[in-house]
Amino acid sequence: MKISDIGEFGLIDRIRRASIRSAKRALIGIGDDAAALLLSPFATLLATTDMLIEGVHFDLKTTDLYSLGWKAAAVNLSDIAAMGGVPRFCLTALGIPPSLMVEDITEFYQGVNACLKKYGVALVGGDTCSSRVGFVITVTVLGEGDRKKVVTRTGARPGDLIYVTGTLGDSGAGLELLRSVECGVRSKKSGIRNPKSKIKRLIERHLCPIPRVEWGRRLAAAGIASAMIDVSDGLSSDLGHICKQSGVGAEVFVERIPLSNELRLAKGLKQPPLEYALSGGEDYELLFTIPPDRIKKLNTMPIAVTEIGIITHERSMRLIDEREQGRLLTATGYNHFRSGRRRGSVR
Ligand code: ADP
Ligand code: MG
Repeated sequence: MKISDIGEFGLIDRIRRASIRSAKRALIGIGDDAAALLLSPFATLLATTDMLIEGVHFDLKTTDLYSLGWKAAAVNLSDIAAMGGVPRFCLTALGIPPSLMVEDITEFYQGVNACLKKYGVALVGGDTCSSRVGFVITVTVLGEGDRKKVVTRTGARPGDLIYVTGTLGDSGAGLELLRSVECGVRSKKSGIRNPKSKIKRLIERHLCPIPRVEWGRRLAAAGIASAMIDVSDGLSSDLGHICKQSGVGAEVFVERIPLSNELRLAKGLKQPPLEYALSGGEDYELLFTIPPDRIKKLNTMPIAVTEIGIITHERSMRLIDEREQGRLLTATGYNHFRSGRRRGSVR
């Protein structure tokens, strides 16, 4: 059987089913944004790792190394945020191709360290190797959670409301603009040559995403989110993960999906703005569900959120338009190994 027949998530599911799952101290193993591991009755370790591979996740023609370093750290912090944890430690493992210079790696670590410093995370280890297949980056982040308050993908219940932080689609649109000739090809390996200011924010959101660490922690500490995930693959796919793993469905109201003005007004995009929100991915916003009686509490919190829909008994996901017409929402975000529709990047 080809891996493309089952896709990334089918493959992960097979790995999960074959894994040893009886470890009592593994509160949450394969299948969520991070594992939650009980070290003692008082300490829960959160652990996550993500790889970025040149030619799959990034192209050195469209990113500078500082941004790449920032992003490699940020995407992992985002997974800790999605569990409602606090990131503490980081390990970085690199496969470095001969084309990269010492100065490039220095710039990369300036980005990594800037991101880690902002969130109070210490770089404590890793590995360094040569690579013949381009630049390969693996970042692992360890964090701390409260075992009773860790938020998983499995807790959404019918009637819960669906919320998302910030705006969606900016990163996917930013990537497309970054790759288009009009916006200016990057000069050597650093800096975009004069991107038009209106699209600059979209591009920045793609290159240097902001992990919603504080918001995730607050949502978990207040005990109001029933399920949570970070939007790494696009709303359709990530809501799909919550629905599948919670055994529920969802209705999402199209006009409520938060799109930035920069995205709405951007010229030269190949698709309508909504498409970037549904399947663009890499926004690293938090998508979460909460029971209706906790909304009052949510509204008192200093978090930029939008209510976009409701969890349903019926296990399908539906997109409802302004005329209350519904259509099926299928997961169209990024999936490694699947052929067909892809995120606009080289991935
Ligand atoms: P995310 O996008 O939040 O980083 P992924 O979709 O990459 O999550 O992974 C989903 C889950 O599968 C996570 O719990 C991750 O740790 C686990 N996972 C992915 N690949 C593997 C693997 N090769 N072996 C074990 N677990 C894996
Ligand atoms: Mg995640």
